[in-house]
Amino acid sequence: MDSAVRAVIDGGLRLISDGLVEGTAGNISVRHGDLVAVSPSSIDYDRIRPEDVCVLDLDGTIVSRPDGPRPSTETGMHLRIYRETGARAVVHHHGLASVAVSTVVDVLPALHYYIVRLGGPVRVAAYARYGTDQLARNVLAALEGRNAALMQNHGAITYGASLEQAFDRALLLEWLCRLQVTAASMGRPRALSDSDLAEVASAAYERTSS
Ligand code: 13P
Ligand code: ZN
Repeated sequence: MDSAVRAVIDGGLRLISDGLVEGTAGNISVRHGDLVAVSPSSIDYDRIRPEDVCVLDLDGTIVSRPDGPRPSTETGMHLRIYRETGARAVVHHHGLASVAVSTVVDVLPALHYYIVRLGGPVRVAAYARYGTDQLARNVLAALEGRNAALMQNHGAITYGASLEQAFDRALLLEWLCRLQVTAASMGRPRALSDSDLAEVASAAYERTSS
């Protein structure tokens, strides 16, 4: 479990260095077996010590020290993702472009074929207050067939087979949102069609399976 705890601390520092959050916004979790290490709520990322990282089982029972800091307010959302997908790590952040785009569209249009790496056009989960079960349910619905979602007027969430992959996807989504903001500022962007994306997905599949 120590490696997962360490990964959560490193991931928090990376949220800051990648410019994805201000202050204590966002949260990170890493699964190890049937346990999950989650960042603590509202502690500056550069001050989180190993004993501050909360460890829970998939049902939300805390197995780390009971007098430790509270786990992230979004722990329920992270655990739901682990229970319902093959995720091994989850990253939630408030990157500026992701939040901006989440306020204006229901689905991030496919302006670039890289969106195939996120499973296709990224949905925006309907708004619900942070930390609520309703928000967790809205996010799970938006993640159907995707490894990334935007959260309306709030942020972004990605998952992966490793923390590195979850971060790669978070940065890709933030880049795609910057692309959307940039293109929309010049006019009405053209989007790729479903068949364009299907062709890209099958070309990528052929390349990896040959
Ligand atoms: P926590 O500090 O409780 O993880 O909350 C930050 C956040 O981004 C809530 O959505
Ligand atoms: Zn948040």
